[in-house]
Amino acid sequence: MVALGTLLGRRRAQRSVVDADVRRSLVESLYASPTSLTVGAVTGVAVGLAICTLSPPGPIQYVVTALCIVATLRVISAVFFHRQLVRGTAVASRSWELAYELGAWGYAGLLGLMSFVTLMGSGSPDTHLLSVSMATGYAAGISGRNAGRVQIAIGQVCLTLLPTATALWLHGTTGYRVLGVAMAMMVLGLAEISSTIHRIVVQALIGRREKSLLAEKFERLARFDSLTGLENRMAMQMRLRDIFDANQKRADAVAILWMDVDRFKEINDSLGHMVGDQLLRAVAERLDEVVQGRGRIARFGGDEFVIICPDTDRVTAAEIAQDIIAYFAHGFDLGDNHLQVTASIGYAIAPQDGRDMDELMQHADLALYEAKRNGRNRASSFNWSLKERFNRVHEIETGLRRALDGGELRLMFQPIVDLESGHIEACEALLRWNHPVLGPIPPSEFIPIAESMGVIEAITGWVLREACTTAASWPGDVRVAVNISPASLKSSELPGDVITALMQSGLPARRLELEVTESVFLDDSGQTNAVLRELQRVGLRLALDDFGTGYSSLCYLRSYRFDTLKIDQSFMAGVSANAEDRAIVHAIGTLARDLSMDTVAEGIETPIELQHARDAGFTSVQGYLFSRPVTAERIAELIAAGPLAGTERPEPMQPVRRLA
Ligand code: C2E
Ligand code: MG
Ligand code: MG
Repeated sequence: MVALGTLLGRRRAQRSVVDADVRRSLVESLYASPTSLTVGAVTGVAVGLAICTLSPPGPIQYVVTALCIVATLRVISAVFFHRQLVRGTAVASRSWELAYELGAWGYAGLLGLMSFVTLMGSGSPDTHLLSVSMATGYAAGISGRNAGRVQIAIGQVCLTLLPTATALWLHGTTGYRVLGVAMAMMVLGLAEISSTIHRIVVQALIGRREKSLLAEKFERLARFDSLTGLENRMAMQMRLRDIFDANQKRADAVAILWMDVDRFKEINDSLGHMVGDQLLRAVAERLDEVVQGRGRIARFGGDEFVIICPDTDRVTAAEIAQDIIAYFAHGFDLGDNHLQVTASIGYAIAPQDGRDMDELMQHADLALYEAKRNGRNRASSFNWSLKERFNRVHEIETGLRRALDGGELRLMFQPIVDLESGHIEACEALLRWNHPVLGPIPPSEFIPIAESMGVIEAITGWVLREACTTAASWPGDVRVAVNISPASLKSSELPGDVITALMQSGLPARRLELEVTESVFLDDSGQTNAVLRELQRVGLRLALDDFGTGYSSLCYLRSYRFDTLKIDQSFMAGVSANAEDRAIVHAIGTLARDLSMDTVAEGIETPIELQHARDAGFTSVQGYLFSRPVTAERIAELIAAGPLAGTERPEPMQPVRRLA
């Protein structure tokens, strides 16, 4: 019942909007053509003056004088209102309608009176003809012209024709009487015509109005985000385009701030979409409070908001961004939940950061990405070095897909030498990529990109197959060590890839060593644990690479049984000059020995570093002192050549021979 009442109320309100609008259009139609009104007035005055001239002095002169005055006033008011209409300053109000109504009826009444007085007072057939023709013609014309306000039209027809018909009847002759009756009938006919035209015009106007209301509604839906009530992406782009078009003439600064709610997906996933929606609405309100007319806010989609700030330089944009971040620190109260949410913002300023809309948007997005990369809850400004980095990353991304299929990747191997025997006990497989345009790209640069692109599994699979096949051709029991990135360890494909590589190459599992870094334990989801244990069951060896550079918790040395510990090269580089590095190297050596793990000192470049590795009790060494990473063929030669020079205990220390 209540719903029906509301519906009807809404419908009535809509109807009254339509009515008011239609009524305004109808009133405007009265003044729409001042020309036809002027023609009617001038004709009436001319006929009136002619009748005056042809008639003897009497009341006709007074009537025609009044007619002239009313006609003049009507023409002036019509021209005045029409001009205002054209300029858009006029409102088709009730008073304008009344003014027209009075003028129209006054003029029609005077025309009727002029006919009556002429027919009754003058014996001249010329004046009779003039007055009757004038009245008939005027009535016929006006019934169509003023049909928009039907009561005015019918009133005018009556006021013109009825006095004329009466006078014709009173005149007494048969012909005049027949004409009088015909004129009375004509009143009925013209009234019907006016009503019909009025109905058609009103229907057309209502149809037009409803169409425009519908169009308005659809435009609103298309321009605004239904959740937050903010402008949406399309409206924002249109606004920005307008600003840029206008700015081409002035070159004012325009700032775009691109904001993203940090970890919104997690909130959505853990608390549900209802809370997510509430949060987005609250964020929109808060942005409105902070920005306060300094820019226009739009929801770009998802948890991303864009603020367009015209006439804003970099300093002001940074201030706005900081205000937003600071305002977020208050947290959000959403029903039972108090959410502590942060935001990241990237901003770019035209014209310095981009000459067109798309470029500026792209650069603000890059700055946002930078803010996220630097740890979120912060704002970053765009600068062109970001763009260069982006271009390089983009080129690496596109190149990587091709590199794997196109044979651009290859493996080099670096010997790991047993300190006791001087023999090569293992070789670490190190990936190399010579990009056709960018030249050699270090693995430390392209491996993280491969991880973020999700192609690291394919690369790891290839490296494993290649490394195992190569190692299978080496003489003796020399192992091959393959680096496994944390992303690969999380993938369930790794055990399968390892087994395939071993089976295809025929390499025994104990000759394959997988090197993982401490970072794999940062996300201890259980998956890593499972994969590592499965791999150890296969019989291959596990090495903990770059030890000492991560968060170096000793817990995982207890829970995972690593076969080898590789101390990071940065410690070995510092041993000669730095007592702390020396202490750490010794402590790690002792720790690994007590845990019965093999130890590799990475990055040995000088005999002194070698001496320190030996003193610390390391079992193996790796570094440029013995060999740089070299080809598989060269490794085969080195293995065949026997113990490497430099590994024998120097007493006193002897110079060593570089092999590569
Ligand atoms: P890493 O596993 O610690 O590899 C040792 C790095 O130290 C290699 O750099 C090697 O060339 C370099 N190196 C060896 N001896 C010396 C020395 O005496 N002095 C100095 N200054 N450096 C030495 P590279 O080849 O540039 O590899 C860098 C990192 O890229 C590797 O560190 C590893 O984490 C990663 N990486 C290399 N190949 C692969 C791969 O196939 N897969 C994965 N996931 N990562 C790889
Ligand atoms: Mg390694
Ligand atoms: Mg290493």
